Amino acid sequence: MDISKLLDNNKSWTKEMTKGQENFFKNLCEGQAPQALYIGCSDSRVSPELFLSLNPGDFFIHRNIANQVIPSDNNLSSILEFAIDVIKVENIIVCGHYGCGGVEAALSELEPNLCGVWLADLHAHLKAQKVTDWNEAVEVGVKYQTAKLVEVPVVKRAINNKQILIHTWIFDMSTGEVISL
Ligand SMILES: [Zn+2]
Repeated sequence: MDISKLLDNNKSWTKEMTKGQENFFKNLCEGQAPQALYIGCSDSRVSPELFLSLNPGDFFIHRNIANQVIPSDNNLSSILEFAIDVIKVENIIVCGHYGCGGVEAALSELEPNLCGVWLADLHAHLKAQKVTDWNEAVEVGVKYQTAKLVEVPVVKRAINNKQILIHTWIFDMSTGEVISL
């Protein structure tokens, strides 16, 4: 990829977005009101804006290796609090994906590095569940993240107040389709 070409891409994109809607960017500056918080994997092939045909402002997004919900992670915790209490999203989507390298790494012995530390909780869960199949590990993994998500106090409160719905998805990159579990 030619990085300098990206700035040209950006110029074309701004032209495209303002075609027939010249106030598009002015309206974006007015504020955001996305209806969903999306928690997914950082994998470069799994961009929700592309596979869901989203526009700027549609989704509040958090991505990390293997789409994990680690309650002690200040990054995710602050996003949950902001999305629920300030933006008042109505949905939280946790999306895993087949072919996830993070999940594959968590299936075997972990490297003694920061990725290993990040994957330790998932690794322990897959081991306890005796999961050895990669696809099954992706499914077990995303369900596990959702199970942890609904126990986070700010999320639990929002569910009890009927403010939010929780969705568990898997993106199948062999077809481009999203499967709702
Ligand atoms: Zn992944």
